[in-house]
Amino acid sequence: MTLNYDDVVTRYDPVIGLETHVELGTASKMFCGCSTEFGAPANTHTCPVCLGLPGALPVANASAIEYTIRIGLALNCSIASWCRFARKNYFYPDMPKNFQTSQYDEPLCVEGYLDVDVQGNTYRVGIERVHLEEDTGKNTHVGGATGRIHGAEYSLVDYNRAGIPLVEIVTKPVEGTGELAPEVAKAYVTELRDILRTLGVSDVRMEQGSLRCDVNTSLSLAGSGVWGTRTETKNVNSLRSVERAVRSEMLRQAEILDAGGRIKQETRHFQETTGTTRSGRSKEEATDYRYFPEPDLVPLAPAPEWVAEIRGSLPELPAARRTRLQAELGLSTEDLQQMVNAGVVEAVASTVEAGAAAGEARNWWMGYLAQLANARDIEAPALPITPVQVARLIALVSDGTLSTALARQAVDGVLETGADVDEVIATRGLAMVSDTSALTDAADAAIAANPDVAEKVRGGKVAAVGALVGAVMKATRGQADAAAVRTILLERLSVSE
Ligand SMILES: [Zn+2]
Repeated sequence: MTLNYDDVVTRYDPVIGLETHVELGTASKMFCGCSTEFGAPANTHTCPVCLGLPGALPVANASAIEYTIRIGLALNCSIASWCRFARKNYFYPDMPKNFQTSQYDEPLCVEGYLDVDVQGNTYRVGIERVHLEEDTGKNTHVGGATGRIHGAEYSLVDYNRAGIPLVEIVTKPVEGTGELAPEVAKAYVTELRDILRTLGVSDVRMEQGSLRCDVNTSLSLAGSGVWGTRTETKNVNSLRSVERAVRSEMLRQAEILDAGGRIKQETRHFQETTGTTRSGRSKEEATDYRYFPEPDLVPLAPAPEWVAEIRGSLPELPAARRTRLQAELGLSTEDLQQMVNAGVVEAVASTVEAGAAAGEARNWWMGYLAQLANARDIEAPALPITPVQVARLIALVSDGTLSTALARQAVDGVLETGADVDEVIATRGLAMVSDTSALTDAADAAIAANPDVAEKVRGGKVAAVGALVGAVMKATRGQADAAAVRTILLERLSVSE
């Protein structure tokens, strides 16, 4: 890519749109009683309904409808008082009925919005619709080099996923984000994921596919107000990839437009390895799915009292919770934003709940734990250490049992062994050496080993004592209190400050 992003956004206005599929965490499938459990042997969670056998009749899952209404209400949508399922007809081997039961012109939730904060600005992302449908099965292509159907010797299909309730959340086109379009897209998916998790309607695991995102991107000439042709980038499987997919698609389209070319309306696939998109199916001819109302299901007419009851039972949503925590923890807006970006707001709040001071909790989650998480390419809360364990470490540092360096070693131990903090400290002997005679011996040894440094300190260069402190800390494997070591060294050298 030869174009400069900053230059591209002065000449073009991006318009983005997001379609998100969420697998609901109900115990059973959308239209039958089969289990939705992930990871079962192939085709063991199937029955005549989800296999589409002749004569089988679907019955809608009440929990899935309730979950969808919860999502709609959390996204400020209107809930339809009457709507229907529709058949979306197409032939594909992972869809045994040859149609998907979905919603078409009568979705359950419409006309909502979600506000997202990016770099101090709030962007309102309009929600066009939230509708309920069923997931497809899963094809596995065997024998080829790429795992794709081309070159495969044969294909297998697993219908365990077929019929799992799936909610599709479609935004309106989002304009006016300018250079921040990639960040706004990422912030939207992040906020949506946090809301879904808070609502308890899905486990929202992007890497397992329970939250899948398609990103639409187009460019218009700056100031023209005329929208360009959009492309749809499929199955972007991480938050970071959402941002990268929008950015790379903006650059790719700008390059074509600069050369006088035309953007093809098509589906593209995001490639994790390169951070770019590659061409997929052309969408220039609209597929006719021959939608019609599903005759085997009664219409959906949620009673207003039921919707009101669901609204009354909604938990505190992430935005409200953040505002409350910001006040309670005494955070600046900037601090809070950094914590949101790092995905550690909940972890910090739980650590404070477990008894730690807010500042310390924030330092651990934004500092050492964030570093470790970064190295593993995950967010800090995904590390196998709990807020309660972090709070325990903070307490041990503040009462002088551990130095910060030792507490870090304890974290390493918890992550490596899965053992609890106190157990790690006991088995690894991570206690501070507070025995003055042991420290004095170590100080004398350091002085003897570094006579030139000792001479400098005696001669008045007190700052040089740092090298001796380092030697003692090394000898005691970080288990001494550095300030105490310094005092002892200066005493032994008969230097006063
Ligand atoms: Zn079934």
